Amino acid sequence: KIYYDDDADLTLLNGKEIVFLGFGNQGAAQAQNLRDSGIPNDKIIIANREDSYAEDAKAKGFTVEHDFGKAAEIADVLFLLIPDQVQPRVFNEQIAPKLKATATIVIASGYNVFYKLLNFTPKQDVVMVAPRMIGSSVRSLYQKGKGFPCFVSVEQDGTGSGLAIALALSRVIGATKAGAIASSAREETAMDLFAEQALWPNIIMLFREAFSVLKEAGCSDEALCYEMWMSKEPAEIFERAAEDGFIQQLKHHSTVSQFGQLSGALALDGSAARAHFKEILYNQVLNGKFCREFSKIEDDLEKEGAANPLNELYRKSEESELGQAEKRVRARLAGLL
Ligand code: NDP
Repeated sequence: KIYYDDDADLTLLNGKEIVFLGFGNQGAAQAQNLRDSGIPNDKIIIANREDSYAEDAKAKGFTVEHDFGKAAEIADVLFLLIPDQVQPRVFNEQIAPKLKATATIVIASGYNVFYKLLNFTPKQDVVMVAPRMIGSSVRSLYQKGKGFPCFVSVEQDGTGSGLAIALALSRVIGATKAGAIASSAREETAMDLFAEQALWPNIIMLFREAFSVLKEAGCSDEALCYEMWMSKEPAEIFERAAEDGFIQQLKHHSTVSQFGQLSGALALDGSAARAHFKEILYNQVLNGKFCREFSKIEDDLEKEGAANPLNELYRKSEESELGQAEKRVRARLAGLL
């Protein structure tokens, strides 16, 4: 199901106090779109700690509340637009105890709701309005009068009007202009984490191994880096795939290339990859294993140096032949790139 502007009844938002928790990437874009769609400025509050994000919100003419409890008390609608990893602590400790029993909570990503990390009360509506774009595009496409791809869902229909409110909110942030796709926190989380934990790791591995094999065969670092990604050819291929079709974009390539790619892909046996993908999807993503394990190391991600597990993953990844070669090439070409 795809929802368009005509499916949304904006009168449902009349008189509602709308609070944006967070004025970052998504918060700044969505709050401005919502105001430009006609929601009165005095009905919008930006809840943010006292810093540059708060200053930015003030400079853009918004009312800013630094006390999250006070903002929560008056919110009929609360957009939860702070980073996913801090949402459970901030929401459960500072927002949830003060929030109205019938408030609408809007999430832009399914993760914390699918894994049940946020504490809602039964009469609250929990809706997902999740743009598939970075905030600057959410804003610039709106300003150009265009829509942007977005997932919408009702995760808890406490008032019975969850979907209608979700659609009204989707419309005022500009998401129903191009059609908002009915989805769910489960679907959004599954696809997002699957791409991050199954698809892209395989792509990184394939590039790493391909690099080593070609290097062994005598190809130079410079030629390989440019051939494989620094020319931006892969980015162009994906852009064409979005415009012309995943398979049809191949028609832009030479006949030799088309023949090689299509016959090569059809000859590959995907059963090992399929089994691996299923393992990640069911036994790592959907069963919550990754979420449980990630929560154990989350605090370490704030640490400096080797104590931060992400820094260690970067260090090990850069040790690969591809990583080392790229460093040399970039150093040699410094200033030219
Ligand atoms: P940002 O990283 O841009 O959020 C920054 C905002 O969060 C700032 O207002 C910041 O203010 C506030 N913030 C950060 N840490 C804290 C904290 N500990 N306590 C209170 N406020 C905090 O987030 P995004 O906009 O990227 O993401 C928001 C939501 O949107 C997430 O659910 C994300 O998954 C989703 N989303 C993001 C997309 C993207 O492209 N980035 C795309 C689609 C969905 P300060 O530091 O001053 O406290």
